[in-house]
Amino acid sequence: MQGSATGLAYRGRTASIGFAHGPLVRVGADTNGERVAGNLAEEALALRAAIDAASGQIADLAGIAGGEAAQILEFQVALLEDEDFIQAIFASIGDGDPADVAWRSALDAQIADYNSAADEYLKARSSDLADLRDRVINILRGDGGPALEIPSGAVVCADDLPPSRFLEIDWSGGGGLALLRGSPTSHVAMLARARGIPMVVQLGAIPDVRANALLDGEGATLELDPSAEQVRLFEKRRESHRKSRASARAILRRPTASWRGERIKLFINIQRVDDLEHPDAQYADGIGLMRTEFLLTERGSLPDEETQFQAYDAVLRWADQRPVTIRTFDAGGDKPVAGFTLDGEANPFLGVRGLRLCLARPEIFAIQLRALARAAVRGNLKVMFPMVTSAAELEAGRKLFADVVQRLQADGIAAMLPELGIMVEVPAAALAITSFKTSFFSIGSNDLAQYVLACDRSNGALAPLMDPLHPAVLELIARTAEHGRRAAISVSLCGDMASDPRCLPALLNCGLRELSVNASALAQIKQTIDRLSSGGGLD
Ligand code: PEP
Ligand code: MG
Repeated sequence: MQGSATGLAYRGRTASIGFAHGPLVRVGADTNGERVAGNLAEEALALRAAIDAASGQIADLAGIAGGEAAQILEFQVALLEDEDFIQAIFASIGDGDPADVAWRSALDAQIADYNSAADEYLKARSSDLADLRDRVINILRGDGGPALEIPSGAVVCADDLPPSRFLEIDWSGGGGLALLRGSPTSHVAMLARARGIPMVVQLGAIPDVRANALLDGEGATLELDPSAEQVRLFEKRRESHRKSRASARAILRRPTASWRGERIKLFINIQRVDDLEHPDAQYADGIGLMRTEFLLTERGSLPDEETQFQAYDAVLRWADQRPVTIRTFDAGGDKPVAGFTLDGEANPFLGVRGLRLCLARPEIFAIQLRALARAAVRGNLKVMFPMVTSAAELEAGRKLFADVVQRLQADGIAAMLPELGIMVEVPAAALAITSFKTSFFSIGSNDLAQYVLACDRSNGALAPLMDPLHPAVLELIARTAEHGRRAAISVSLCGDMASDPRCLPALLNCGLRELSVNASALAQIKQTIDRLSSGGGLD
């Protein structure tokens, strides 16, 4: 519906502080939902194109994977080239089935066949088939489609937005994000904070109009077609925000942060190499978390070893000798990746995600571990696994990593096993913290709070309950910090609460002395530690 919106104001919740003034641009929410089927000919063409695209992706992957992984992929290619099998699916489309339905039911029947086989080898092939099924369906649904065209500086408005759609938008010219639903603790909110993109969620019903928009990420408001007076007041708020940021930035240049005489190490979280261009990044003590899964969504196909190595090496070069903690792929949950994560899990947050997925897909994981092992000889690299539940998973990951290093060295390629650690974000890991033999721990308070409080972090309706300062969450944080202190193992916290000044007193009281924050929060966090240390309170 198009119409006039003059002077309309909406209030939501703040997800990322900042200000944006630009045209309102509405975008579709998600490519992961149901697809709209075309006529018979269109459906047949869509399936043919999806099969060709899947074959291309698998061939690329086989080229970089080698060994047993290449054999698995060849098995998938063989099925795609089995004309009898494929023709039967096209016949179902001829009978009126949409392409995705025809494809899924044929693959499900094959999977059931393989599953019922007595032979363990054939049984094991069913998961390769499920992978192939999901890859083609993801392509049919349009994952990895063309980039969104959004004018520079626009206020992007959507019902909700998955992280992959956020990353498709070019934010280099500024702009902001206004969501009708959404949650301040979702991954897309985290991305917005990391980039310093203002974002307001839960704005309710915004009319679908062409309008000039003012987005105030501090006051959590969106104003459409504002009056001159509204613009004047908005600019005044924007200017006062700029001044208070400037005074916090002056503190950044001081060499270290300390609280009651104890050194507090402040690292930054990054998603990709470009994030290091943030002007405040240089003042960090190092990188506390590099979320590598975003490498998976940037190109529409899985990144090869060389692409990954270049990215990790660039971060190490930037850091010089400062520590760089890189997290292995944390796909799954609300971060689906075509061709990697499983489709159709009833409960993806409790599903095959993080390290669980990497261990289930060793052919993809091994490529990342090779790139990391090669990067490890170039700087102060630490690697951590996400979503670890039991010590056996850590050991399985360590073994794969050690094998990869051994093979590289046997081939005369410079490589080494870096320091290994885990994210503490599953309550079981925090409760059984002494069972993990590891060099360091990093607390993922976003997921830890989600699982302890039984609140889906992307569900806006639960935002008031999703409180990382809940005593149960703090208890697990303190327990982990205490174990680290006793066993002389470093413990940091890299979840979003580290970037929230209101959480600082509790985190310091829990015994944490290392925090990893968004580059855009570094100045404010350092300033807050300074104030708390000199007996002052929070703003
Ligand atoms: C966390 O869970 O706190 C975390 C840092 O990881 P992510 O937000 O990427 O899940
Ligand atoms: Mg997490």
